[in-house]
Amino acid sequence: MKPVTIIGAGLGGLTLARVLYVRGIPVTVYESDPSAEARTQGGQLDIHEENGQLALEAAALTAEFRSIIHPGGEATRILDQHGALRYQETDEGSGGRPEVLRGDLRRILIESLPTGTIQWGMKLTGLRPLGDGRHELNFARGATVTSELLVGADGAWSKVRALLRDVKPEYAGLGYIETYLHDVDRRHVATAEAVGSGVMFALAPGQGIVGHREANDIIHSYIQLRRPLEWFDALDFSEGSDSITRVAAEFAGWAPELTALITEGEGSPVKRMIYGLPDGFRYRRVAGASLIGDAAHLMPPAGEGANLAMFDGAELGRLIAEHPDDAEKAFALYEEGMFSRSEAAAELSQLVLGLTLGEQSPNGFVDFFTEAAAE
Ligand SMILES: Cc1cc2nc3c(=O)[nH]c(=O)nc-3n(C[C@H](O)[C@H](O)[C@H](O)COP(=O)(O)OP(=O)(O)OC[C@H]3O[C@@H](n4cnc5c(N)ncnc54)[C@H](O)[C@@H]3O)c2cc1C
Repeated sequence: MKPVTIIGAGLGGLTLARVLYVRGIPVTVYESDPSAEARTQGGQLDIHEENGQLALEAAALTAEFRSIIHPGGEATRILDQHGALRYQETDEGSGGRPEVLRGDLRRILIESLPTGTIQWGMKLTGLRPLGDGRHELNFARGATVTSELLVGADGAWSKVRALLRDVKPEYAGLGYIETYLHDVDRRHVATAEAVGSGVMFALAPGQGIVGHREANDIIHSYIQLRRPLEWFDALDFSEGSDSITRVAAEFAGWAPELTALITEGEGSPVKRMIYGLPDGFRYRRVAGASLIGDAAHLMPPAGEGANLAMFDGAELGRLIAEHPDDAEKAFALYEEGMFSRSEAAAELSQLVLGLTLGEQSPNGFVDFFTEAAAE
């Protein structure tokens, strides 16, 4: 059985590694971060029955996943900019889309792999085909490795992607500013009530605030704005800067319990610019190599990306295991399914983007949820 080399220890790469390990296939993951704790891992993810949860089942980690679910996290509220409640869904504990912290999910995957499977502090800087599907991989600090089967799970700015098709992501016309409020039940009572126990969307055309209630009395928010890249470039959240006041000024007239999510945040806000690969992006079959997750199908977030990345990992792992002597067949079958899944997800992503920040916001998004609930 040829060993598999994965670039990137995000949720996609780790799920693939775990599925291969469970199936007894040798695997190594090279990750540029120096350690598992090197970066905070962002907020909550809802893990879907039809992809993320199936991937965790294939990784034999369902019990571990159940133990990290944030109870109540599936509740949803949609408000307008004045704080008026337009739609509400309580968390019935149905288990269809439970919420977990990304950091917890990543941790259970990392802990499920034998020590040494993940090589930390290994940033891929260059690669070249050697023939027969093998590739020479060059890492910062001089290390060189030869891969038999190579999988790029290296995210939005994938280095491996250039081998298959040299296309760069395009700016999607919007950015998020990430903030955290702490001790919310005591210090930000009105805001805590507005957000509720799960996720709250406060929306208007071109901008919105999405707040997630997390464990330990924390609300984690994405302040969303459709603005040119240069507008965001001019924001600088280093100490003493007035950038957060400039962001808040874009929300003048919004309810104070909502704008508190911008102005009362603790710690330095983080900019997250949103990029996507061109519509219908596909790449050619290259012997011995493929991509999973954002490397293969980066799109503006609509609650699917992490789920898709994990499902890609599980599917590719399964197919490699089922075709031990024909990795090319495994890659081809995987890509066929992955391209059609990701095209459907990209359509959904555009739809959600239009409904949340389009001209009819929040009405379009309210109708979408109301119709889905009726079904
Ligand atoms: C603001 C925001 C909110 C989101 N919210 C959600 C959500 O609610 N639900 C959801 O399902 N999805 C969400 N997504 C999408 C989700 O985060 C991604 O789709 C998902 O993380 C992709 O996983 P991945 O494993 O493909 O890539 P990543 O998570 O990006 O992991 C890639 C890994 O590769 C490593 N790497 C990169 N380059 C190299 C290199 N040269 N050498 C070695 N290692 C390298 C990186 O350090 C990283 O660890 C959101 C995205 C954003 C930006």
